[in-house]
Amino acid sequence: MIYGFFSLLWIFLSDALLEMLVTDVKLLSFLQTIKGFGFVAISTLLIFGLVSYYAKRMLAAQHHLRALIDTLPDLVWLKDERGIYLSCNRKFERLFGARESEIIGKSDYDFVDAELADFFRKHDLIAMHADRSSINEEQLTFADDGHTEILETIKTPMKDEAGKLIGILGVGRDITKRKQRETEIKVLTQAVEQSPVAVILADPSRQVTFVNRAFERICGYGSAEVVGQRFEPVDSELNSGELVAEIWRSISIGEPWQGELRSRRKGGEQYWEYAYLSPVLGNSGEVSHYLALKEDISLRKQHEERLHYQAYYDSLTALPNRVLIMDRLQQLIREARRNDEYVAVMFLDLDDFKKVNDSLGHDVGDQALVQAASRLVGSVREGDSVGRLGGDEFIVLAGHFSRKESVQVVAENILESFWDTFDLGSRQIMLTVSIGIAIYPFDGESLSELLKNADTAMYLSKAQGRNRYSFFTEELNLCISRRLQIEEHLRAAIDNGELSLDYQPQYDVKSRRISGVEALLRWNSTALGQVGPDEFIPIAEQTGLIVPIGRFVLRQALSQAVRWVAQEPLFKLAVNISPAQFRDEGLAEFVRLELDSSGFPASRLELEITEGILMRGGPLVEGTLAKLHEMGVCLSMDDFGTGYSSLSYLRRYPVDELKIDRSFVQEMTVDQADMELVSAAISLARGLGLRVVAEGVETQEQLDALNEMECGVVQGFLLSKPVSADDIDALLMRQESTTA
Ligand code: C2E
Ligand code: CA
Ligand code: CA
Repeated sequence: MIYGFFSLLWIFLSDALLEMLVTDVKLLSFLQTIKGFGFVAISTLLIFGLVSYYAKRMLAAQHHLRALIDTLPDLVWLKDERGIYLSCNRKFERLFGARESEIIGKSDYDFVDAELADFFRKHDLIAMHADRSSINEEQLTFADDGHTEILETIKTPMKDEAGKLIGILGVGRDITKRKQRETEIKVLTQAVEQSPVAVILADPSRQVTFVNRAFERICGYGSAEVVGQRFEPVDSELNSGELVAEIWRSISIGEPWQGELRSRRKGGEQYWEYAYLSPVLGNSGEVSHYLALKEDISLRKQHEERLHYQAYYDSLTALPNRVLIMDRLQQLIREARRNDEYVAVMFLDLDDFKKVNDSLGHDVGDQALVQAASRLVGSVREGDSVGRLGGDEFIVLAGHFSRKESVQVVAENILESFWDTFDLGSRQIMLTVSIGIAIYPFDGESLSELLKNADTAMYLSKAQGRNRYSFFTEELNLCISRRLQIEEHLRAAIDNGELSLDYQPQYDVKSRRISGVEALLRWNSTALGQVGPDEFIPIAEQTGLIVPIGRFVLRQALSQAVRWVAQEPLFKLAVNISPAQFRDEGLAEFVRLELDSSGFPASRLELEITEGILMRGGPLVEGTLAKLHEMGVCLSMDDFGTGYSSLSYLRRYPVDELKIDRSFVQEMTVDQADMELVSAAISLARGLGLRVVAEGVETQEQLDALNEMECGVVQGFLLSKPVSADDIDALLMRQESTTA
């Protein structure tokens, strides 16, 4: 450059200046000649320098362009309008597995199969004809390493300056990753669309941006109806304010919430859903979306509710069952303890309900239970609970009161609600209920104690004639525990040989001779001492133990009395038979077998029955009585006068004897009415051709009066208390000797 500068300086140095500087003419002329040459040479040099400078610049630019094209990650190629390659870049070389120099001048048909080459050609033509870029997707396998890429190709027609089509420029870009992503997104979108769970997306401003098909199906709203609307993932009318607040609190601190929610469909129908609600956080922790996933769990809920109902409610009456009612009682006790109040536990048992079932069938029985349940519910106060414990047992819980009298009112209401007849289809029946009441805290502090005591009180109501209520008392408790003890020990009494018989002689009034004995049961319990039959027989009757006990009595009496019959030609053995023994179908047969095996004459056996048996009647009782009568066994009507004493029974049943109850005999000498009753009974018996026995004769006065009335036979402490079999032996022996 410096050289060029000085050369120029030299060339343009003016001749005048040269003349001024060089005074020597020869030198001047020489220098001017050189300057002339120099100008030509320098000009030539300068031109050459400039040309080479620009050529170099162009070459460099071309080189840069080429490098740029080769460095592109995209494929670039150029073909003429016939499809012959004019140029291509490095990436393209890799595709064909050939150098550019090998590619140029050839067409696709030289490198790929004809089908693919046709495809390329077709699209080249489309672009050229349409005179604009055409975009395609092509999956290609690279020749060098065999890997496959999905290419997006853009083919653009190329024209010269005159606008004449000279070929086509192709650019291909690897979109494999994008395609994969697209496929992934498509699969995901399809999954979301087809998922059975409703999906709702909302933007950070809480506007719904997306709902899937399940949402439309479950909620009934179309996508167009909700997208753009406010995102309300929980119905604040159907769910508690607390729950709604909890949900938003959780979402607002970026934590998901999940649980069960009440929801409403478009039509207004309510349903249960399981919801997962969550903010979706972006990379820097900001909320990018809100997401709600919801599942319709109505069916499961219904199923759960049904199970819950079955576990806690009685299916027949729809009342709470034992489990639920116990839970409520526990709760009432807790409240009462806190508030210093009382809780009444009422045990209820329908009276004689078994008869309804037995005589009218279980369907009618069920109807009666349903009606009874609704009467109970109708007669208690609001807030009191009625439950069914099973069978014909119900329970009423009354809480929140501070006077015992309030409980009495509830109990009376219940009894009153049973006054009306029960309409059971074509049948109308009367039902009553027995109630036992225990009160917290007086009759127990615990659940079990209260229940046990209410049950005890209920038994008292039953024992006192039913259709009534009884409060639990401590005395009652003692009485019940005695009862339980008796029951417990009575079971083993026969096997332990604790039972025995005493015999009370019966005397012929006229001859003053023993005409027979009444067998009376004795129990000398190892655990309880002497227990009287008045105490244990009713228990034996209720527990069914009377059947084996009754059999023991009959067998024992027959075996002991057989010798007395042999001794005294008119001797009679009286054995008490309780009504409960008539429930035993084998009674008559048992009597027959025992008579046979003991050799005791049937006509000398007198079975004492009560009016209760005759009143109850029924085919079983009638059949048994008829069989016994056929065998020749006598029947005696015990305790005559205390029951209904209906004459029709005496006519209908084969009764041989009346036993006037001791209560009349004992009062007859002090009470005129009793005297008349005894007298009437004796005349009645005579009129019907029956024998008469007066029992409980304690005084001579009574005996005289009976004698005067011509009573046939007497029995009582005046003449003899019940005594042992040995004593009877002795008495009969003495009688024999006096006669003799
Ligand atoms: P019951 O059948 O009326 O028996 C008569 C009861 O009156 C007996 O009481 C007897 O001891 C009592 N007695 C007899 N004379 C007099 C008297 O002058 N004054 C008083 N105050 N009482 C008198 P016991 O033995 O205590 O029997 C009571 C009840 O037990 C009997 O009443 C009967 O119902 C029942 N019983 C006794 N043994 C049996 C039995 O083997 N089977 C059944 N099913 N019941 C029996
Ligand atoms: Ca008797
Ligand atoms: Ca009696």
